[in-house]
Parts: sequence; C-alpha cells; structure tokens
Amino acid sequence: MDNLITHIRRRLQTLQELGFQIWLSAGSDKSAIVGSSFSAEISASQPDDKLTRLQALSKEVAVCRKCPLGSLRKNPVFGVGNPDADLVFIGEAPGAREDETGLPFVGAAGELLTRELAKHGISRGEVYICNILKCRPPNNRDPLPQEIAACEPYLLTQLDILRPKMLCGLGRFAVMTLLRRPISIMKVRGTWRLYHNIPLFISLHPAAVLHQPQNRGYFEADIARLAAAYHRRQESLPQPTME
Ligand code: SF4
Repeated sequence: MDNLITHIRRRLQTLQELGFQIWLSAGSDKSAIVGSSFSAEISASQPDDKLTRLQALSKEVAVCRKCPLGSLRKNPVFGVGNPDADLVFIGEAPGAREDETGLPFVGAAGELLTRELAKHGISRGEVYICNILKCRPPNNRDPLPQEIAACEPYLLTQLDILRPKMLCGLGRFAVMTLLRRPISIMKVRGTWRLYHNIPLFISLHPAAVLHQPQNRGYFEADIARLAAAYHRRQESLPQPTME
C-alpha cells in the first residue's frame, strides 16, 4: 500500500510540474484534475463520461501483454490531458523518462513542446498527449510492425473517446506509422493529412530538434502554424493535402 501511495504521489507531482493543478478531496471518492482552461471530475457516478471510459481503457493498457514490450516496460504510458481536448498530439513511443514516470512527453523534449505551445496561448492542460505505442521499446529502438499492430487499436479507441477536431503527429516515425507509408519529414512537415478522417498536422519531434538545434526554427514554424489552425477551429478546420 505504501508503495502505491508513493507511486501516486510521484505521478501527481509530475503532473503538477507539467502545469496541471490537482486537488484530492479527502473523504470523497472523487479527485479532480484541472488545467488552466478545463475542469473535469472523475466520478464513479458518471459511468458514460469520457474520463471514466479513458480510465477503463488505461486499466486495460496497464495489464496488457499483447506484445513483448508489456513485459519489458516499467510503466505503461497511456496518455494525459484534457478529455475534451480539440487537439491531440501523437508521438511514436515512450522514452526512458516516460517509462519511469508513466507520463508522455516529460523531460527536455516535453518542456520544449510546452514552451512553444505557451508562446501561442495554448496550455498543456487544454490539449491531450499520447503515443502510438503505450510501452517503451528497449533502448528506444523503432517500434516493430507487430508491436504497432497490437497497440494501435488502443490509440483508435482513445481517439474515439476524445473525439478531437485535429491531431498533430510528432516526428517522422509517428507520422509514417499513422500514414502507413514512408515520408521525408522535412518535405511534409507543416502540412495536413487525414488520420481516420481527422485532420492530422505533421510536425518535427521536439526531441529531434534538441539533437539538431539547426532545425529549431522549423519546429517553431510548425507549432505556430498548428496554433493558428487551432485558434480558428470553431470557424473552419484545416483542409488536408490530397496526394
Ligand atoms: S505496447 Fe501496447 S500492445 Fe504492446 S504490451 Fe504495451 S500496451 Fe500492449
């Protein structure tokens, strides 16, 4: 029990570091996770709401062993954010820090993404962030086709629950996987495609930008373009490039 409480405390602390405000109400079966522009309650009395469905799915992921990565991970990394998000970021797979914390896009790459979004008036608390694979591949190797085939249905169910207006694929491998074909990230970055009929924006991955600082300007331009479309989302949605 002590281990569980310590684990929960650590995860809540990490969420707070990411900009979430969290209250746990003593003597209640409810906890609330509140970002800067949203408020949602986890309540056993609302069986059909998005949070309850996301929680149920995350419990499935927590015990999943559909591919070998389930036995290698320290923690599954389900995803985090606003259940009513209009924008969902999708990366490829958890890295070492994500595996440790159970949270996506923590560490320097996550901080870079958070900073760029904040420049354009978007908080981490109002979007949702997840990966295609929910468990870390050893030594951050590329996910294998059978791992993607086993895990992608979780992503699709997540999107079915979230019903976002737009997606952002982060990095070459994530975008290649979502589009199911090879791409040159430098050629297609900054453009829109479709993933299961949801507009998908293509951006460089913040971790790649940290390794290749000369691409920082491209990443900043990607996020600026995405943010402009996000802020216009009530009037119009982006038109994907047809190929
Ligand atoms: S990577 Fe996905 S399919 Fe494989 S064990 Fe983890 S949750 Fe299950």
